[in-house]
Amino acid sequence: MEKDEVKEDDTSVRVALRIRPQMAREKIDMCQVCTSVIPSENQVLMGKDKAFTFDYVFDMPTPQDVIYSDCVKVLIEGCFEGYNATVFAYGQTGSGKTYTMGTGFDVNISEDEIGIIPRAVDHLFQGIEERKRLAHERNEPPPDFKVNAQFMELYNEEILDLFDTTRDPESRGKKSHIKIHEDAGGGIYVVGVTTRPVCSLQDTMQCLKFGALSRATASTNMNAQSSRSHAIFTLHVKQQRVIRDDNLEQDKESDSTEGLNEFETLTAKFHFVDLAGSERLKRTGATGDRAKEGISINCGLLALGNVISALGDVTKKGSHVPYRDSKLTRLLQDSLGGNSRTLMIACVSPSDRDFMETLNTLKYANRAR
Ligand code: ADP
Ligand code: MG
Repeated sequence: MEKDEVKEDDTSVRVALRIRPQMAREKIDMCQVCTSVIPSENQVLMGKDKAFTFDYVFDMPTPQDVIYSDCVKVLIEGCFEGYNATVFAYGQTGSGKTYTMGTGFDVNISEDEIGIIPRAVDHLFQGIEERKRLAHERNEPPPDFKVNAQFMELYNEEILDLFDTTRDPESRGKKSHIKIHEDAGGGIYVVGVTTRPVCSLQDTMQCLKFGALSRATASTNMNAQSSRSHAIFTLHVKQQRVIRDDNLEQDKESDSTEGLNEFETLTAKFHFVDLAGSERLKRTGATGDRAKEGISINCGLLALGNVISALGDVTKKGSHVPYRDSKLTRLLQDSLGGNSRTLMIACVSPSDRDFMETLNTLKYANRAR
């Protein structure tokens, strides 16, 4: 049924807008809220006359679990049927991308504040247990699952391995040996990056934490913010299961054919992407190396915008999708478009002092529709 759902729905790209609450600092500075939401229309208004409509609009107080269950959960379900999926968080620095994705590892975080990745991983492993239990009930051999994780950072069009325990934090910006390849079937795979088998929520979170710390350490050493790089956490799910056809009544005889089950292998990839801050180069007043970083970060975001817009534009179907314009879009090529599902979460600040950046984010997100 998942399959039909995707076909009917025509567009595989969905866009969610999330407006974070005002921070204490913004309240102290007496910033005004310049966004207003019309929930029934999935619409947001900026000022008086600028209106944007998205697939989902989450206003300030929306809790983490609502974001997850409304728009991410279904993507994890798709993984069990072999669909690739990608979730992006897009927006200026400070707009809530890391909070939304759940890679911040704030020690004071409460259960309610857990972000998308831990929820998705939890759901994935529960789904695996559930499927094994069902097979047991049906007297079938249990499906076999293998889950592997990778965690990469894209910085200046270089791929860094956040799971590499031998990585020198100073290596950021230096040439890496990691390469992106495409197989005969159009599948994208990365050579030279650490792949960690994971078997539980705890296990996966430990890996994720290691990578997130590695990313943060490198940032401080280089005196650059991690907000200038893209972080891509990937789960590869490989499933081997008995082919069953619930509609075949004669299957009742299958007791006698036990041991002759036919198996199928399904693979799916799930990318969680915490994108670089979308703020404009001119506003941060970047020069020299910083400017260079900014330019290539924008190259990834620019290419992503072009790819997503090409995918979303029905009239362009079958025409060229410019995946090769950046490492980011190349890496995600087989998980954007086609049978894959993509969710872009555009994160914005509600405060008037961020008006221009928020407007830019809304315009960027709007191209995806
Ligand atoms: P980004 O990754 O886009 O730079 P962060 O995720 O680090 O932004 O968010 C900036 C600050 O705002 C953090 O202190 C974070 O905890 C807080 N924050 C962001 N979104 C929310 C939200 N929806 N609810 C509560 N606090 C939030
Ligand atoms: Mg962040």
